[in-house]
Amino acid sequence: MKTMLSLVAAVVLTGCPSNPPLEDDPPDVIKRGLRVHYHTTTTLDNRRADAILAEATEILQTKDGAGDVACKVRLAREGDVTEFSAGDGSIDSGNEFGAIVGPSGHVKLVDEINWCNGWKPNIIGCARPDSSLLVVPTAPELEGVLWAHEYGHTKGLKHRDTGKDAVMYYSVAADHRKVDQAECDAFRKRHDSRRFLEDMLRRGS
Ligand SMILES: [Zn+2]
Repeated sequence: MKTMLSLVAAVVLTGCPSNPPLEDDPPDVIKRGLRVHYHTTTTLDNRRADAILAEATEILQTKDGAGDVACKVRLAREGDVTEFSAGDGSIDSGNEFGAIVGPSGHVKLVDEINWCNGWKPNIIGCARPDSSLLVVPTAPELEGVLWAHEYGHTKGLKHRDTGKDAVMYYSVAADHRKVDQAECDAFRKRHDSRRFLEDMLRRGS
């Protein structure tokens, strides 16, 4: 595992995605596009976003031993990374969450998250089914797993209590790389922004 971690770190450090270009994907790999945005209190560019999405894709597509499936899905940036300035970059309440989160198909990088369905100080990501995913900048070796994990929540996945090495385990770590078949099916699902809007109306937010 140590070898794998240092390999991952090397890939992230050089910013060189180890995945082939999109057009080289086999036809059975489903591509899910994500628009990526960063709050003015943070920073991100196309190259960095691509490296993180390539790492998330690699984690999902690679079979890392028993109990893991090679999930044929690619998370890919759609359009240029853009900056946004709404709010103060720190999510501290349901209102602030509601003001920043949007429908699925978007990643939003913010400076701090202290609220996610309740007060949870200093967490690194938050997402609801069919919402965009909110993430904070974190250690380079964690960002691929983090984005994959929060993306899983947007597809309705819950935390997996068993399997410390699962992407959907409640904590995020560089060696949490496994997805089972049911999770893979969710990862491959199409974005559904209509359901997000219905959910927001239902919550009255
Ligand atoms: Zn989670």
